[in-house]
Amino acid sequence: MMRTVLLNIAVCWSIFLTGCATLEKTPQAIKDSTMQENTTRGTRYLETETGRWLVHDMNRPAPPVITPGTESTQEQPGKAPSDAIVLFDGTDLSGWTSERGGPTKWIVRDGFMEAVRRAGSIKTKQFFGSCQLHIEFATPSRITGKSQGRGNSGVFLMSTYEVQILDSYENLTYPDGQCAALYGRVVPLVNACREPGQWQSYDIIFHRPVFDGDKVVKKATFTVFHNGVLVHDNVELQGGTGWIDEHTISNYSPHKDKLPLMLQDHDNPVRFRNIWIREFSD
Ligand code: MG
Repeated sequence: MMRTVLLNIAVCWSIFLTGCATLEKTPQAIKDSTMQENTTRGTRYLETETGRWLVHDMNRPAPPVITPGTESTQEQPGKAPSDAIVLFDGTDLSGWTSERGGPTKWIVRDGFMEAVRRAGSIKTKQFFGSCQLHIEFATPSRITGKSQGRGNSGVFLMSTYEVQILDSYENLTYPDGQCAALYGRVVPLVNACREPGQWQSYDIIFHRPVFDGDKVVKKATFTVFHNGVLVHDNVELQGGTGWIDEHTISNYSPHKDKLPLMLQDHDNPVRFRNIWIREFSD
């Protein structure tokens, strides 16, 4: 009887000591021992920018918490995510300059800005490289002109690489210059245009090109959603999008790592609202 009691006390004491040992382990120690235990079972580890982590490792850094934005309607622009830089909220052009610097003649009213003929393009005061860009636009509801003369503008990443804006709703033009084309280079996967006068959106994931001297060592890439529809799927841009003449393509030309975002004046009163950007590293 006494022997059984002593045995029970010994077992309980052993369990207690084991518990204490576990409690005393630092998170790192727990991680290391877990890694060791799992190594024998052949578990794989992840080599990441923040270190070497176990799959499902509680010590792995969690991402920042943000408040997501809200969707726009035709009547009302949505809100930007909490970590975005708002470039235009419908009230003023304080974050923008004319193409040559100085104030722009583009007008702001009723919650949108509008391109003014011959006023030139406008640029952000801030410079950006790789980014996520949200922008909403409306081509004129009163239809004038045809082909490239109808609702033409453009979103120029780094003031250089154009995602075309055009009224391509029942308006024939060359496909590599229609709405959502990477101008002169890449035709969008589909024509997702709304009728003229309707608010439309681009959501653009852009990775800037990288240069080594005169040579491009990493080409720019575009993923673009037009009105929520995928129109460019991680497309690598093979060169520039600039206009030289009717059938001549432009090549990459070295530039800085960050440059302003530019919106084009192409003689048509295209409107813009709800523009925000989120930068990320290359
Ligand atoms: Mg254009």
